[in-house]
Amino acid sequence: MIPVKAYAANTATTPLAPFGFDRREVGPKDVLIDILYCGVCHSDIHQARDEWGGSIFPMVPGHEIVGRVSKIGKDVKQFNVGDLAGVGCFVDSCRTCVNCQEGLEQYCEKGMVGTYNGRDKEGAPTYGGYSSKIVVDEQYTLHISSNLQLERVGPLLCAGITTYSPIMHWNIGNGHKVGVLGLGGLGHMAVKFAVSLGSEVTVLSSSKNKEADAKKLGAHHFAHTGNEATMKSLRSHFDFIIDTVSAQHDLNLYLGLLKRDGTHIVVGVPPAPEPVHHFSLIGGRKKLGGSLIGGIKETQEMLDFCAERNIMSDVEVIAMKDINGAYERMLKNDVRYRFVIDMATL
Ligand code: NAP
Ligand code: ZN
Repeated sequence: MIPVKAYAANTATTPLAPFGFDRREVGPKDVLIDILYCGVCHSDIHQARDEWGGSIFPMVPGHEIVGRVSKIGKDVKQFNVGDLAGVGCFVDSCRTCVNCQEGLEQYCEKGMVGTYNGRDKEGAPTYGGYSSKIVVDEQYTLHISSNLQLERVGPLLCAGITTYSPIMHWNIGNGHKVGVLGLGGLGHMAVKFAVSLGSEVTVLSSSKNKEADAKKLGAHHFAHTGNEATMKSLRSHFDFIIDTVSAQHDLNLYLGLLKRDGTHIVVGVPPAPEPVHHFSLIGGRKKLGGSLIGGIKETQEMLDFCAERNIMSDVEVIAMKDINGAYERMLKNDVRYRFVIDMATL
């Protein structure tokens, strides 16, 4: 077994604290990654606080992992010791269902194995990236370009792919008016991708003080969602809205901002369901869709796209011991725009 240092939530109501556990030995198809950085996703908070139900404790969160390969199994073909490597939101899936076969492992019919808060095929709980090392099958491991700044890459593994995948699926690009609802970790990546693909992007934010940042990220317009006159002026305006909000909000209001045949895509996961009035959809033949992270193939594509276009997350690097304060700041919408843990501080 491989001893590992980590931070864990022991219950849904206790702060994260130091924790030790063992990773499995490196199997024939596994790589051992020494973790250098791990991004902090709002899903880490939802799950550490059991807001979605069914959380497994103790929990070591973290699914935006980058590091360096320090050992490989005898049958590993795609990685060498010393390579940079990334791990996103899942570390296994059934590999045989139609979705796995199509490279959409996130929709595995048997359920993907989450990087943390999941159970592996032996039923053992999985532990995530707020830790010193991780052992992962090479098929679920990503290649990271050395041209990117490593501390800014981790967030691409979840915030990046979660916004890239729906943008690609719905062919969002040139000529589209796109609203990005919520400017946090996911939102700021959605802005970068949509702008890079030629869309006219408006940030829709509940925080008045994010306008300058929105423009710096490349957004063409900014709208404060608390301003009634602004919201009225945006009625029937957007082809797409990418909704990254992590808390309760009125979907009907935002469906009203779509043009005829427009699409509202939810990626944010508030703890409770949001009511949708059917009139919000039938008046204007609108669509409400959703999207979950992305498959391994598409995640690699996204990482390569980012390396080509020099797209990275805007991050604030923190020490491991400051994780609980970072959670509090995220809950106050005070993140610019992703916290990333420097694992050297563990
Ligand atoms: P985050 O960095 O905390 O950003 C969330 C943003 O939502 C905030 O910055 C804020 O933006 C807005 N917001 C928060 N509370 C609000 C409220 N009460 N009313 C209106 N707006 C509010 O979170 P994140 O890491 O980007 O994650 C966002 C959501 O996506 C989470 O629910 C997370 O679990 C989910 N997620 C889903 C997937 C997927 O595969 N679908 C993957 C990863 C994460 P403004 O200040 O601009 O309003
Ligand atoms: Zn995430």
